Amino acid sequence: MNWFNIEKLDQQTYIISENQHWEEFNSYYLIGDQYNLLIDCGIGIYNIKKVLTKIDNKKTKLLITHMHWDHIGNMDKFKEVYLSQKANHYFKNGVEESIDSIRKKVIRDVDKELLPTDFNLEQFHLETSNRGIEIEEGNIFEMGNRKIEVVSAPGHTDDHLCFYDLSNDYLFAGDLLYKGPLYLNSDNINLKKYLYSLNKILKKYNDMKCILSSHYDPIINIDYLKDIYKFILKLKDEGKYQKGSGLHKKGEYKIYL
Ligand SMILES: [Zn+2]
Repeated sequence: MNWFNIEKLDQQTYIISENQHWEEFNSYYLIGDQYNLLIDCGIGIYNIKKVLTKIDNKKTKLLITHMHWDHIGNMDKFKEVYLSQKANHYFKNGVEESIDSIRKKVIRDVDKELLPTDFNLEQFHLETSNRGIEIEEGNIFEMGNRKIEVVSAPGHTDDHLCFYDLSNDYLFAGDLLYKGPLYLNSDNINLKKYLYSLNKILKKYNDMKCILSSHYDPIINIDYLKDIYKFILKLKDEGKYQKGSGLHKKGEYKIYL
């Protein structure tokens, strides 16, 4: 069963997508001289580790952007898990969303024939553990051939991190940005922090080659981020950058507030 779609971004960066799931989730596998990194680990219906070892079987450290269920389904398969202090709180104590609600989303619209033969929804769970390793803004993973910097980027959630590949100028954006309508209307989104994070990233990493997002079409041009940022500033000027203000459209861009 080819649940995972594997695309090579360059010789040492792989995009591992779960396009048969409605979340169209993308994890990123970064090959290093000394060790590999996996950024987020997907839905958890299938074991992502099996496809990683076929690509390169060096030791792999798992980096978590944030503790939403669709990013953390395979956490228990990795010995070393790195995440923000706030994300680690959820790793230790469990995420806020109920397991019943998560289980429904995990199998929503998934053709039963695509599920592994031994898949048991009642046994599907997210790991809770004290073994998380906390990281923060400015920490760097030295992989030998490349350096990956930790970027604190709250807004979508309070625990959200992005990761910046200093050697290739890629931003691994998590749910900071994705193509298609941008949903800024859910409860745990903090609009002020979100705007601050966009501004910080645009200023700090203006040599960015591309943005790699966790959902849908993985590769996003930096101009897309600049346009969204400008659109939000315009909404803010007009007093519309507020939850409950509804759908806003500008050209191809749609923002729900
Ligand atoms: Zn999320």
